[in-house]
Amino acid sequence: MSAPVANSIHDVAIVGLGPVGAIFANLLAQARLSVAVVERVAEIYDKPRAITLDHEALRVLQAIGLGDFMEQAIAPHNGSHYLGVDGEIIKIFDPMPPPFPLGWIPNVTFVQPDLEQALRDKLADYPHADVFLAAAGVALRQDADAVTLTAQRESGEELSIHARYLVGCDGANSFVRKQLGIGLDDLAFDEWWMVVDTLTSDPAKRPAKSFQYCWPSRPGTFVPGPRNLRRWEIKLLPGEDPEAAGAADNVVKLLKGFTDISDLTIWRSAVYRFHALLGQRWRDHRVLLMGDAVHQTPPFLGQGLCAGIRDAVNLAWKLRLVLRGDANEALLDSYEIERKPHVRAVVASAKEFGKIIGELDPVAAAARDLRLRAELKAGTAETIRQKFIPDLVSGLIARDGDLAGRLFVQPHVQAPDGQTCRLDDLLKPEFAIVTATAEPMEWLSDASRAAWQHLAGERVVITASGESTDADGILSVVERDGLFADWIRHHRAAAVIVRPDRYVFGAAGNADELNMLVGQLLEGLGARHQSFPAVPVTS
Ligand SMILES: Cc1cc2nc3c(=O)[nH]c(=O)nc-3n(C[C@H](O)[C@H](O)[C@H](O)COP(=O)(O)OP(=O)(O)OC[C@H]3O[C@@H](n4cnc5c(N)ncnc54)[C@H](O)[C@@H]3O)c2cc1C
Repeated sequence: MSAPVANSIHDVAIVGLGPVGAIFANLLAQARLSVAVVERVAEIYDKPRAITLDHEALRVLQAIGLGDFMEQAIAPHNGSHYLGVDGEIIKIFDPMPPPFPLGWIPNVTFVQPDLEQALRDKLADYPHADVFLAAAGVALRQDADAVTLTAQRESGEELSIHARYLVGCDGANSFVRKQLGIGLDDLAFDEWWMVVDTLTSDPAKRPAKSFQYCWPSRPGTFVPGPRNLRRWEIKLLPGEDPEAAGAADNVVKLLKGFTDISDLTIWRSAVYRFHALLGQRWRDHRVLLMGDAVHQTPPFLGQGLCAGIRDAVNLAWKLRLVLRGDANEALLDSYEIERKPHVRAVVASAKEFGKIIGELDPVAAAARDLRLRAELKAGTAETIRQKFIPDLVSGLIARDGDLAGRLFVQPHVQAPDGQTCRLDDLLKPEFAIVTATAEPMEWLSDASRAAWQHLAGERVVITASGESTDADGILSVVERDGLFADWIRHHRAAAVIVRPDRYVFGAAGNADELNMLVGQLLEGLGARHQSFPAVPVTS
């Protein structure tokens, strides 16, 4: 019989403490939910995987208190040049120029095991986060009220964990997904690549840019990482045996095809099968899936982990609201509704870039080079990588308006104590009404105001000048960079409602619109039938 874990029932059980599980656990624990995490392996996975992150991911890491750590851990990603058959440039991704809309450099490089260690250290600060390492989830069952997870330690001892919800963050071979009988749709990408991380003794030897070698004879990628980390990803050709390709002497041989290795020490290497797969369902009652457990993408846009981080921040606040009774359980369905089309779009772009890089037919490669060079010359090629990341198109966002579903900007502001910081550092992970002047805050009807208070929503005024204050329930901050002022003026809005994950729920231009927006939000949360005061949703 399995031993029940002390502390009766947790709010959320998590299977898998990879990067996505660790970020999700931190988000929940920070919100004072009790979590139990089981992880099959004690040590952090140390093969080369994610090397780039985007600003949305950095903002989430900032939210869990790792902003300072990330400042030290990252290096800017300086863009990519795609080189055609003749070695000349056929496609360019430039770094996004400032001002940076989310308060972070839009694309950066980092070292995944270092981040995972920081996430584990942070999680250890929370007494209500129980982490069981070297304990594999082996069975689960759920009823109307809870989920029971059985985990097995290496000794054979079994643990029994009870939780209100369970989230499978257990990677590509997800045991949770298999237990639920959920299939993966194959989005048609299947290639073997060798990935090798090296450390250079001469960091200035190569350009600070990334290169995509679109060579039919042997496609490859070069990514300069932080400090002295240098990464190559090299495609295996038809007929090459993935197992033999990973042998140490072959790694050196393939690497020499791309660079002089006299300054390089091989740190680690691995051979991967790059897939494009999408889970058919992301939720089964009280059990949900997240990260690689429910989607896998070829890494050509550097978005696999970023997508998992978006999953984590999307679901964390929804579970929190449901568990505290501020939203109907149906809100959890919006997780898949919002995230699935987003992932599908990102995977489609990653596949497209993968096909450009990995073309093996010399005739098709020559035609590709002509086409891409013409697009580059005509100025029709998109050169900012982050523009391939879509907004939310459905789910819990307002019905009308061009801002609904977009990411809210993050200006640098002066805090009430006089320090300059990023805006989110002053906010709670709750909904916020944000305006550029104090006046629209007066537009809230008594019913909207009462509902907002009940929801623990914040009210934030971001001004161009004056004093930063926190009084009468309104945080008023002076921004340093004009980012918000330009943004709200450009979109002709007077007030926006921002979700806890920093996506815009909707924008309003006048009092009626703002009160309707509050009503729509409450309706979306399913909260109108609970304890909230009634707010009209149409005028
Ligand atoms: C070569 C390569 C390059 C990449 N580059 C990038 C990039 O630049 N940017 C980017 O964003 N993404 C990138 N990715 C993708 C990224 O690495 C993954 O998407 C990410 O690591 C997935 O995290 P995860 O936590 O969902 O899954 P995993 O990291 O696989 O973690 C799952 C965890 O669950 C545990 N587990 C499994 N089964 C059980 C069980 N039964 N019980 C308990 N625990 C279990 C595992 O031990 C593991 O620790 C890359 C991937 C590869 C392969």
